[in-house]
Amino acid sequence: MSRYRLYPAPTQEQVLLGHCAHARYVWNLAVEQRSWWQPGRPAPGFAEQCRQLSQARAAYSWLAVGSVIVQQQALRDFHAAYAAWFASLREWRKHHAKTPPDERPAAPSPPSWRKRGRGEGFRIVAVGPQDMRRVNRRWGQVAVPKLGWIRFRWSRPVLAARSYRISRDRAGRWHVAFAAVPPAIPAPGNGGVVGVDRGVTVSVALSTGELLKAPGLRPAERRRLRLLERRLARARPGSNRRRRVKFAVARLTTREADRRRDWTEQVSTDLARRFDLIGVEDLDVGAMTRTARGTLQRPGRGVRQKAGLNRGILASGWGRLVDRLEDKAPGRVQRVPAAYTSQRCSACGHLAAESRQSQTAYRCVACAWTGNADHNAARNIAAAGQVVAARGGLALAGPGNREPPTLGAIA
Ligand SMILES: [Zn+2]
Repeated sequence: MSRYRLYPAPTQEQVLLGHCAHARYVWNLAVEQRSWWQPGRPAPGFAEQCRQLSQARAAYSWLAVGSVIVQQQALRDFHAAYAAWFASLREWRKHHAKTPPDERPAAPSPPSWRKRGRGEGFRIVAVGPQDMRRVNRRWGQVAVPKLGWIRFRWSRPVLAARSYRISRDRAGRWHVAFAAVPPAIPAPGNGGVVGVDRGVTVSVALSTGELLKAPGLRPAERRRLRLLERRLARARPGSNRRRRVKFAVARLTTREADRRRDWTEQVSTDLARRFDLIGVEDLDVGAMTRTARGTLQRPGRGVRQKAGLNRGILASGWGRLVDRLEDKAPGRVQRVPAAYTSQRCSACGHLAAESRQSQTAYRCVACAWTGNADHNAARNIAAAGQVVAARGGLALAGPGNREPPTLGAIA
């Protein structure tokens, strides 16, 4: 994300404030719907909320005059924030399972009501090169729905972006932040296929047998984080000490997130360079988090396990890795259905739950192939990816290729 100062004309500022108000309204509506949620009566998912948004736009003209992109994106942002909160809550619970209640720091709070004038902003997606231009040495312009061009200070190079966020700080200054898209990496053209599995015991398992683990905090840093969290719990609300400790905690958690992000970039670049076709399990991370949340308040045994898995998915940034792969290897990533990839033998194809001996060990009851369970799943994903790709016209080589622009490097 790189941020630039935005200078709207007074009339443009009115429209921008309208976009902010709409985004805030939709966000708050989503917060409110979540608060009605009870076990057995699920809160509406993203698709359902989009339908409700269309109805609301039909009923309220002040909403209808606004941009549907702004409003839908606010819903999407809410769902992302909710999933992130859920992941950190699980992390917190696991971390403090044995901490005495009075020493526990406050649990992370869910996305909350947005107030006017605080953290105002909205996001625009599906942005292309046609939506930004340079006017002269010092100024650029960005196209905003329902508004047209707004100028911003070209304070440093602007990279191709897929989305941007416009925000207003508390001092009333406007900013635009572009989310840059990494450039596509040419396929190696070696016909190589890899299966990538979101592992249970490792972050990512490859069909080549490589087991990759996303970096986290070092043991000493982890100890320090625990110490700081205990201190935070004891610090008086509003005190200087509390503010200092909070800052130190934030610095450590940011460091962890940065390391994971760097790792995701490295792994996705490496895979895009080495393989022509990359198979990934088609997991709907959002849907999986929803399932476990439905029972969050009455956690049974199976639920705990599932929630733990969800935490793992989110913590290791699985969704971001797949997104990055699709950016860097466009048209070369094949999503395959997730069913049975962990139970099926990758050597003989025999399907048996008993073959999955534990979280880590796989031993086929039919052919006795033995190996790491995540590795076995990654091999299945590679094989399925190849089949699905061939069926969908994504053949690795040959004349039947229906997507020449993205696969030119392979054919
Ligand atoms: Zn077998």
